[in-house]
Amino acid sequence: MNFVTTWWGRVERPLQKSGAGRLPVILCAALVGVVAGLGQFGSPVEDMLRSARNLARSHDASGQVVIIALDDKSLTGVQKWPWPRRYHAKLVDNLTAMGARRIFFDIEFSSNSNAKDDAILAGALARSKTEVTLANLLAFDPVTGTQTNTFPIPEFRRHARQATINLGYEEDGSVWKIPYGVKMDGTFYPSFAASLAGSSIQEEQYFRLDHAIRPESIPSVSAIDVLDKSAPVASIAGKDVVIGAASMQLADIFNAPGHGLISGVYLHAIAAETLMKGRPTELSWLLMLSLAALMMTLASSFLRGFRMLAGYCVVPIAILAGATILEHFLIVPAVLPALLTSAIGILIQSVLLLRQRMAERASVNPISGLPNLKAFRDTAPFVTDYVIVARVHNFTKIVASLPDDCEKELVRQIAARLSVGRGDSPVFQSDDGTFITLFARSDSVEDHASALHNLFREPVTFGPTRFDLIVTLGVDGEVERPLTRRLADALNAADEAFGKGLKWKMAVAEGVEDTEWHLSLLGQLDEAIERKHMWVAYQPKLDLASGRLCGAEALVRWAHPKRGNISPIEFIQAAEQSGRIDRLTAFVMDDAIGAAAALAARGTFIDMSVNLSARMLGDDGLVAMVSGLLHTHRFPPERLILEITETAAIDASRLAQLTRLRELGVGLSIDDYGTGLSTLEYLKCIPATEIKIDGSFVQNLSTSMSDRLMVSSTINLAHALGRRVVAEGVEDPASLEALSTMQCDEAQGYYIGRPMPLRQLYRALARHERRQAA
Ligand code: C2E
Ligand code: CA
Ligand code: CA
Repeated sequence: MNFVTTWWGRVERPLQKSGAGRLPVILCAALVGVVAGLGQFGSPVEDMLRSARNLARSHDASGQVVIIALDDKSLTGVQKWPWPRRYHAKLVDNLTAMGARRIFFDIEFSSNSNAKDDAILAGALARSKTEVTLANLLAFDPVTGTQTNTFPIPEFRRHARQATINLGYEEDGSVWKIPYGVKMDGTFYPSFAASLAGSSIQEEQYFRLDHAIRPESIPSVSAIDVLDKSAPVASIAGKDVVIGAASMQLADIFNAPGHGLISGVYLHAIAAETLMKGRPTELSWLLMLSLAALMMTLASSFLRGFRMLAGYCVVPIAILAGATILEHFLIVPAVLPALLTSAIGILIQSVLLLRQRMAERASVNPISGLPNLKAFRDTAPFVTDYVIVARVHNFTKIVASLPDDCEKELVRQIAARLSVGRGDSPVFQSDDGTFITLFARSDSVEDHASALHNLFREPVTFGPTRFDLIVTLGVDGEVERPLTRRLADALNAADEAFGKGLKWKMAVAEGVEDTEWHLSLLGQLDEAIERKHMWVAYQPKLDLASGRLCGAEALVRWAHPKRGNISPIEFIQAAEQSGRIDRLTAFVMDDAIGAAAALAARGTFIDMSVNLSARMLGDDGLVAMVSGLLHTHRFPPERLILEITETAAIDASRLAQLTRLRELGVGLSIDDYGTGLSTLEYLKCIPATEIKIDGSFVQNLSTSMSDRLMVSSTINLAHALGRRVVAEGVEDPASLEALSTMQCDEAQGYYIGRPMPLRQLYRALARHERRQAA
């Protein structure tokens, strides 16, 4: 699975495919490239690309081959065409005199002119000290399929070499290639180019011209200037000269790709210049395509998302750049199938990315950026975590009264609270002020839900403005059920909690839920106490300085004959809200003080802690009840500690009650310390003797730096204010050790002892005392 980490946590990214998942895309793109390559569909485009690369590589000829141009100036100079052959004779004479290295005639002398002129030219050829090469041609008629061999007339042939002026034409008449030579009547004649370049290749194969050579850079001298010897000798001396038609009037013109129409003689010169540099080789399109596919595979193995797309985009650039460099070394690749492959790869990848982006957007709340309900549904169908739903009932109202840009901040504050202690699972948001999160299964989900609810009691703040959140929670732990069902159940539970005035509620799978049960719950409370279904468990507390079990906390238990054990969280809230908490408190306090007094009578002196719901502080009879019970059991008040959780709900009159209790001599403890946001203030003004650090901070002591800081600074602060500190929820020796180092006064938790029946507490205390004594 792929995860991304955002400010709200880790979110699964099922859409983000791995590199291996891109292989079909590359194969599909390569297939299109192969089809195009085999079908030669793009050859005009391929040629265009080649011309573009040639333009980029454009360079000058060596200058070794000089053209003696039968240009317009020469034509007007002689006034006759074809030139009488005595002029050609004079050209041979003059070029020889000027020191030409070799003379090539790109002119057909295949038939006789008049006897006198032919004799003059034959004479010139015969006496020329410079080697003269005449043109022959293998003419091919594509319509009739007939071949005609055209040779110079025998009188000339005798005194000269021969080379062929055959060119290779593409369908559009352009000349990309010419042959190394042709075979006529059993003899191999090299091409002009091969002869000029001194190539020894005796093959009829065609080679590709380097059209990056600029035709303008091939030196050219007007034939008339040679005739009247006005041409500078330096332009001829030591050079190979090719005499040829260079006038548009003479119709010896061809389409040279990238250069437009040029005279045939220039093509021979370009071809010669090409061969002078080496033997051009062609590189198969399949090789280039494979290279492109390989690069794309590499990109998809190492890159993701838009980077992968960028990687794909580099491929055609690399192919083109590579081709240009190769062509410098006369290695000429066909790149179109490779380009097509990469283009299709880019296209498909873009579409996939776009779709992914859209899907991601559909999974995110546009305002807060939190993953939404769809994202929640898209996570695994079954999870072993609790589903916790927080319904903020006045969400819309708060949003409506806030400026536009504050909604995100509101959500951030809510999500931050929901994130406390939930590991790295994200907070999901649905539109109506419902937030969902997962909580790793452990036996303290009740604690977690209560702690979360406590966090929500603190108002959200926007500068000086504060809003109280009305929140209820729904928790679902039915792991065998599909997630979507569980979400619905948790939502129901949250709504029911609201309807019943509870902080939170555990979801009950549909069909099992019995609404009657809740209605009758309160009715059964009194009966439960009478029938002894209600009993008190005691959890021991350890004094860290002396290593002695110094106290116990009374925790009420309801063993329901039909329902099994009911969590105190569930029925205490109900009792609080229905005003029956006084009966329950009296029951627990009587049991607890009685138990501690009985222990004292046996010589074991421990402190007894009893939880006191904040609502009880509104009860005027509270102080009388406490002092009455202390009196009845003859228990010293300073050994009784009352734990108060809902410090936020304490107003002036309740504060007065606390002060009165304190005046009795009874100890006061701030329970679940750390879960409310401004407990510091309360710490100052409540006349407490002790604070109890919430288990959620203690449980992560060994792993969380911030929890360690929070706990140690709380201990220091409390000590400075003269309060004792108890840490609850100690589950392992490491935490105990850490607390001890931090000078915490007392510890409570499963590691020291679980809540247990009184009998068991007696035994535990006795065992401990024996061990202490030994
Ligand atoms: P609390 O006062 O914070 O009590 C501590 C809770 O943490 C108890 O849950 C206890 O069983 C549990 N606990 C103790 N050690 C550990 C530990 O090491 N790890 C974990 N994960 N949990 C530990 P319990 O008994 O379910 O009580 C839940 C809450 O119900 C109490 O929270 C308290 O707020 C309320 N409660 C229980 N008895 C009474 C009572 O007689 N009167 C009132 N008003 N509230 C009570
Ligand atoms: Ca408590
Ligand atoms: Ca507590």
